[in-house]
Amino acid sequence: MKLSKIVVASHNQGKIDEIKTLLKPFNIEVVSSAELNIGDIEETGTTFSENAKIKAEATSLMCGLPCIADDSGLCVDALNGRPGVYSARYAPNRDFKLGMQKLLEEIEQSKSTNRKAHFSCCIAFAVPNQKTSVFEGRVDGTIADKPQGNNGFGYDPIFIPDGYTQTFAELGNDIKNTMSHRHRALEKFIQTIK
Ligand code: IMP
Repeated sequence: MKLSKIVVASHNQGKIDEIKTLLKPFNIEVVSSAELNIGDIEETGTTFSENAKIKAEATSLMCGLPCIADDSGLCVDALNGRPGVYSARYAPNRDFKLGMQKLLEEIEQSKSTNRKAHFSCCIAFAVPNQKTSVFEGRVDGTIADKPQGNNGFGYDPIFIPDGYTQTFAELGNDIKNTMSHRHRALEKFIQTIK
């Protein structure tokens, strides 16, 4: 399928920028639902896949264009996979400084010494009147003792990907984009549109 324009169903500038950068080599015009004044779609699902589909299908119907939406989050082993699909809502008032502090405190309280975690991402690709496809990506790592670094967004300052000693926020977007959960899911999507 030859794609010339695609809508990214998101109001999260960090994510929109990442997706635009990752799709840049493919000469696809990328616009966000925020730029089209389409409101945020409520995430009523209980899995990353369900939420990504809900957002992509609703946005695609509203604008009549192919649309991708992602749902992603941080899953922490010591917290039995939480905050997971609730990662955005876990942070009080969506303040991720507070969210990271809360997460570090919860791990501390769990008494677990297991710092393993992963970011997961599902990307849904919806085209009006066609079956929606979903692509998954994941990056494994550990939770740092305290937030470090100023790049990225969300929980980047406390996530150290496997094979590195610095957090995503210290490594910066160029390195993050080579291995991130979103990148891995997008790569799978790109394989199908190539
Ligand atoms: P949603 O996909 O819009 O529901 O948001 C998922 C939430 O997970 C974001 O608001 C972030 O808090 C977190 N998250 C997802 N991907 C990343 C990432 O690449 N870095 C840091 N935090 C992330």
